[in-house]
Amino acid sequence: ATPLLEVRNLQKYFPVRSAIGKTKGQIKAVHDVSFSIYEGKTYGLVGESGCGKSTAGRSLLKLVEPTGGEAYFNGENIFTMKPSQLKTVRKDLQMIFQDPHTSLNPRKKIGASIQETLTIHNIGAKSERKQAVIDLLKKLGFNEEDYNRYPHEFSGGQRQRIGIARSLILNPKLIICDEPVSALDVSIQAQILNLLRQLQHEMKLSYLFISHDLSVVRHIADRVGVMYLGRLVEEGTTEEIFSNPRHPYTKLLLSSVPTVHESEAREPIEAKGEIPSPLNPPSGCAFHQRCPFATDRCKKETPEDTVISATHRVKCHLYSE
Ligand code: SF4
Ligand code: MG
Repeated sequence: ATPLLEVRNLQKYFPVRSAIGKTKGQIKAVHDVSFSIYEGKTYGLVGESGCGKSTAGRSLLKLVEPTGGEAYFNGENIFTMKPSQLKTVRKDLQMIFQDPHTSLNPRKKIGASIQETLTIHNIGAKSERKQAVIDLLKKLGFNEEDYNRYPHEFSGGQRQRIGIARSLILNPKLIICDEPVSALDVSIQAQILNLLRQLQHEMKLSYLFISHDLSVVRHIADRVGVMYLGRLVEEGTTEEIFSNPRHPYTKLLLSSVPTVHESEAREPIEAKGEIPSPLNPPSGCAFHQRCPFATDRCKKETPEDTVISATHRVKCHLYSE
């Protein structure tokens, strides 16, 4: 099958300026990241805070301007589209944020907030729009009266469901979910994850699910990509990443996730030191200062992808020639 979204060599570099405005260097927030998302599937993008996963997600919607690479949505490169074409594609590409409180206007009734999206895209007559919003709110467990309530009248979990409703009103194909459950209690997290899965099934949705939490990702993703300092260091099916992780950094992330199956026995990995600054990333493998297996080669040479299986690849010298 052809992917719904194919990202090739995505790059986002930020210039860093000194106090007098001179360019001092650049932060390679996202460097040479490639992955594909298929219809009805979920791609989990994981890594610690600051690894570039949110920037990668936002670049795909051009909320931040990418500095390199391509992103083919249904075969068309989003990055080179004209504004009019991009506006059409944006209906199919929506986003859910960690904190819906910051994305919902506190002074606006939630029904009006959701309906606004329809108005911007000029969809339906006014009376139809209101009914469409009410129908969707009901589908997500709200009642008709909730249409006229304000965001502060709802709990965190309810607000996230309102954020989901707003992302769904245009009937999109792909939703970029950036830490959508990280601010919620564990019991509410499970409800939201189940809701996302149910909606995926009913509406044939695809998700790019961005999270620092591998135990959340395992419940929703079909494939997982692990990012470290702007690079995708390992990618595989969820099964491959959890049962047969190869990159020492993936193993480190997994060591804090409880095992579910016996096949997931984890080798404990102890990393040294802190995450380095992305402004001055280490030479060679960016993980070498923290990696217990680092050799001289790791300090000099940046590892490229080594293929483990048709769906599993890793950037680590332990597996290359
Ligand atoms: Fe560790 Fe070397 Fe592999 Fe990097 S390339 S993860 S330093 S063994
Ligand atoms: Mg983030």
